[in-house]
Amino acid sequence: MADFGASASALELNMKALTTQVKVLIPLPISSTYDYGVPPGLQILYGSIVRVPLGNRTVNGVVWAPSSKPLPKKSLKFIIEKYECPPLSNELRQLVRWVSDYTLSSLGSVLQMIMRGPISLNPLPLKTGYQVSNVLPNPLTPARQRVLKVLRETPLLELAELSRRAETSTAVIKRLVAAGAILTQKIPEGPDGTSAIQESSQIFLSDQQTVAAEQIKATLGQGFSATLLDGVTGSGKTEVYFEAIAQTLASKLQVLVLVPEIALTAQWLERFERRFSFRPIEWHSGVSKRIKQRAWRNVIDGRTSIVVGARSALFLPFSKLGLIVVDEEHDSSFKQTDGVIYNARDTAVVRASIANIPIVLSSATPSLETTVNVERHRYGLARLPARHGSAVLPVIEAIDMRTTPLKRGQWISDDLVNRLVKTFEASEQGLLFLNRRGYAPLTLCRACGHRLECPNCSTWLVEHRLESQLRCHYCGYSSDLPTNCSSCCAEDSFAACGPGVERLAEEATKLFGGAKIDIMASDTMNSPQAAHKLVERMTERKIDLLIGTQIVAKGHHFPYLTTIGVIDADLGLSGGDLRAAERTYQLLHQVAGRAGRAEKPGHVVMQTYMPEHPIMKALASGDRDNFMQRETESRRVQNMPPFGRLAALIVSGSSEVRVTETAQRFATNAPREKNIKIFGPAPAPLALLRGKHRHRLLIKTPRDVNIQAILRLWLENVRVPSTVKVRVDVDPYSFL
Ligand code: ADP
Ligand code: ZN
Repeated sequence: MADFGASASALELNMKALTTQVKVLIPLPISSTYDYGVPPGLQILYGSIVRVPLGNRTVNGVVWAPSSKPLPKKSLKFIIEKYECPPLSNELRQLVRWVSDYTLSSLGSVLQMIMRGPISLNPLPLKTGYQVSNVLPNPLTPARQRVLKVLRETPLLELAELSRRAETSTAVIKRLVAAGAILTQKIPEGPDGTSAIQESSQIFLSDQQTVAAEQIKATLGQGFSATLLDGVTGSGKTEVYFEAIAQTLASKLQVLVLVPEIALTAQWLERFERRFSFRPIEWHSGVSKRIKQRAWRNVIDGRTSIVVGARSALFLPFSKLGLIVVDEEHDSSFKQTDGVIYNARDTAVVRASIANIPIVLSSATPSLETTVNVERHRYGLARLPARHGSAVLPVIEAIDMRTTPLKRGQWISDDLVNRLVKTFEASEQGLLFLNRRGYAPLTLCRACGHRLECPNCSTWLVEHRLESQLRCHYCGYSSDLPTNCSSCCAEDSFAACGPGVERLAEEATKLFGGAKIDIMASDTMNSPQAAHKLVERMTERKIDLLIGTQIVAKGHHFPYLTTIGVIDADLGLSGGDLRAAERTYQLLHQVAGRAGRAEKPGHVVMQTYMPEHPIMKALASGDRDNFMQRETESRRVQNMPPFGRLAALIVSGSSEVRVTETAQRFATNAPREKNIKIFGPAPAPLALLRGKHRHRLLIKTPRDVNIQAILRLWLENVRVPSTVKVRVDVDPYSFL
């Protein structure tokens, strides 16, 4: 790991080194830094954010290191200005270096993850706070009363927050201002609610939870440690790590909570607010630019004490981070697959280690990597083996579909139908799980068998009947359903093959006439607000049957959900990627974990053609550890991660010939050491993606080999034409 020497404050004493020339790293996909002169009198530290000339424009950059070979004065350009912003900490700069080294991305493109996008390099402008005057409004409507009450309790709230808390429109508030009943005042940005935490809903932890919470709290303030919080679904993992968060906030340190899905943040935020009486900052793609700008600045200035977000929140410039929590740590969406290809869970552990703070990884189905780290005693383990309160784990049953015939166009077995009918009669809720968006995964011509494919990708187009469209789930291409087959010209000959959630909803509507049915898929709820509304309708029992893709598996708490049907339990097992079994197990276990989370026991029906498969057996018997043990053994025997290392090279470009040639050149120049295995080149399973041809190579090494060094050498030795792109994916999760 790079050594950045003394801390920023110590360097301030050592100003001499930074008064002449410095290297500045620019957030552009380049690894080299540029030398700039420091104008006399400008206070420059490592990590200072500055504006510098570059070519014929000016760009922002970060002071990275002292110049090694001072340039002659003549050719030297000077820093134009230093922003009024705290410098990027040593810790963050070390993280940039680590990620760059590990993923083989340029330093500048890693810096982009911190610096590009909505950030605020100048101090935040004053904001407008609202407070009550001594004028009483007339008429004093209930909405107006609520506004005044909220403001009496918490003066100087901002408009959006006031309107949220008073549950009224901003127009009502503005009219109160016009009537003189509310006064506005310009106020500087203050600290968030931590200083005034009132633990409103007092939670009494069970004995089991207390032990786990104490164990995690004991790691606080003790330097770096990683602890797996391994608790069955509904065991109260969130409540347990909230204890550690409470203690961290009380020590005036910052907390970062990473969640895999932005749809999950809404329910999480509500729980947090109920417990701590204030709302943490959210950070993900659904947050507006303006709010992000402010959040970034509040984080670096230390006013924000807690952030909950998607993987990109990991690169926020915390100034006094005290704890990281990764919720649902097994989730593969922590792996970023474009731009800098990194795994946010693993990188979070690295950040914790650089910052010398504890990290908690929470899951009911921990990843195999994490499980092995626990076995090796690199990570601690806190366990919650039972559900909270009287809730018990659901009964899981496999239905053998080989002996359960379905009619054409039917996917819900009679057993499952009967169970759901009983569920609705008891005023409880059901869930059908099918990991396929849209109406049908394949559309083909009945006359000639022609399949509708994406013109840009080697994949079928998926029919989305609700939007009457065909869509590519890889590149976003969409078109209307053609009336004539392009291959045989037959008219109206297209037939939908196989089910997606929309088609399942159609079947369910026919089967359960009066039931209220809704679909939950990433494309039908693309904003946290939409997700929030749906989750709310579900918890308020305005939905009887929810039909969803993998997004329903993640962390939701639906107290009245008692029956779950898994339509195609075998779906994830095809494809043969190294984590197929592990992931299918995790997914099905998590789906099943949504059932029976309150007083009523849950029942899960898995429709499978392989009831004897170890996964189905493990799910039905609840023997997770035995299953994971077997998976671990098979990885160990095959030297697969985490026992060996993998990296993929993905060669892509518009010209198939060039791509094939380049991939071949990589094969010819492949490292030849005995313990290194190279697979490929071969056309990728997605041989065409967004109009680009793709070939893949895979390199496998033992664990103790520095795979990055080998990759670097390999990449240096192969000439790549400018029209061809080579991407390196270290620890790949996708093999498509
Ligand atoms: P997990 O994250 O392990 O799936 P949760 O933290 O969501 O479990 O807890 C499941 C439910 O049980 C939640 O509604 C939570 O508020 C409730 N719960 C857990 N522990 C307690 C407790 N000690 N007292 C009251 N309610 C609890
Ligand atoms: Zn496509």
